[in-house]
Amino acid sequence: MELTTKIPTRRTSQSKIKEVNSSTLKFGDFVSDHMLICDYKNGEWMQPHIMPFANLSLSPAALALHYGQTVFEGMKAFYMTNSKINIFRIAKHYDRFVKSLDRMAMAIVPEEIFTEGLRQLIDLDRAWVPKEKDHALYIRPFVIATESRFGVKISEEYRFIIFTGPVPIAYTRPIKVKVETKYVRAAKGGTGFAKCGGNYGGSYYPTQLARKEGYDQVLWTDSKENKYIEESGMMNAMFVVDGTIVTPPLSDSILDGITRDSLLTLARDNGIPVSERPVSIDDLETAFRNQTITEAAGIGTAAVVAPIGIIHLNEIDFHLPEYGPENVLYKLKQQLESIRTGHLADVHEWNCII
Ligand SMILES: *Cc1c(COP(=O)(O)O)cnc(C)c1O
Repeated sequence: MELTTKIPTRRTSQSKIKEVNSSTLKFGDFVSDHMLICDYKNGEWMQPHIMPFANLSLSPAALALHYGQTVFEGMKAFYMTNSKINIFRIAKHYDRFVKSLDRMAMAIVPEEIFTEGLRQLIDLDRAWVPKEKDHALYIRPFVIATESRFGVKISEEYRFIIFTGPVPIAYTRPIKVKVETKYVRAAKGGTGFAKCGGNYGGSYYPTQLARKEGYDQVLWTDSKENKYIEESGMMNAMFVVDGTIVTPPLSDSILDGITRDSLLTLARDNGIPVSERPVSIDDLETAFRNQTITEAAGIGTAAVVAPIGIIHLNEIDFHLPEYGPENVLYKLKQQLESIRTGHLADVHEWNCII
C-alpha cells in the first residue's frame, strides 16, 4: 500500500539506535528517534508533524496536569519475515481510543490522522522495530488537555502525540496475585472501560500494599459486592476451567482488551470452548478445591499472556499447576505470534503491513 499525503517531517540528525542493546533491553528503556504531534485548537485539528523525539513545552496550568483529561493507547508493531512491518489491529485500537476520548469529554482524533500518522511515523523509524523473537516496537498514542487555565473546566485545546520504542515481551515467570476485596479499580458508571490515566493513578496504592505482602499484582473485584473478578492488575483476566476458557464479560468497569479479543477469537477458531461469564471468588475457590482450574493469566499487549502461579483468595494461597507449552493459553499465544509475524494466515485481517 502507498502512503497517502506526506506528513511534514523533520528528521533527526543524530539517530540514537546504536544505544540499544537488545540482549539487556527492558520494557520502556528506549524511545525511537521520532514522534508525531498534532494540536487541536479553535474546534479543529491542525496539521500533524513528525519531528525528533524531544521534551514538550507545556503551561503549568495545562488542564491535563490538574484534572486528568488524558487518554492513551498501547499497541505494537512487529518485524515480519520479509522485512515488512506489521502494525497490529490499528482499527480496533482506534475504535477504543475514540471511546476513551469520548468518555473523557476530549476532542476525537480523526481516523486519518491516527492511521496515517502511525504508518508514516513507523515507516520513518523502521530500523527501530526489533527483529528478535518476541520483541516488538511498542507504540504509545495519547492525547492530553493542553489548555492553560486553572479553573475546573473541559479543555478546549488538546495535543495528540505518538511515540514508540523497542521492547522485549514483558513478564515471563508466573506471577503471584492477591484478590483485592477492599479497594476497587473501577465502578459501574465510571471510567473503567476507558484507557485514561486516572485509572492507573488510582490503582497504584492498593497494588503497592499487595507488593508489601509479597504479591506482584492484585485481581480486582467488582465495586458493588467485591465478589466477582474483573481484571488482573492492568490486564484482562482469563482462566481455564475444565478445558473451557473463562473470562469476565465486558462491562463499563472492564477494559475491552485487544489481546483478550484476539485470544478469544483464536480459541473459537480452534474449537476451544469459551465462556464469557462472571467469575466469583467462590467459583475460583471451588475450582481450586476440585482441581478443575488449570490456568490463570493476565492478558494484554505488553505480555500477551502473563501466567499466574499463585492466587490469594479467602485467606489462602492457591497454587496453579506449572505453565508450559502444553497449556491452552500458551498455544494461543504462539498462534497469535505466528499471525503477527506472517508465519500463519491472517484470516481476520488484523495486520496492517507497511
Ligand atoms: C490496556 C489495558 C488492558 C489490555 O488491553 P490490550 O488491548 O490487550 O493491551 C487491560 N486492562 C486495562 C485496565 C488496560 O489499561
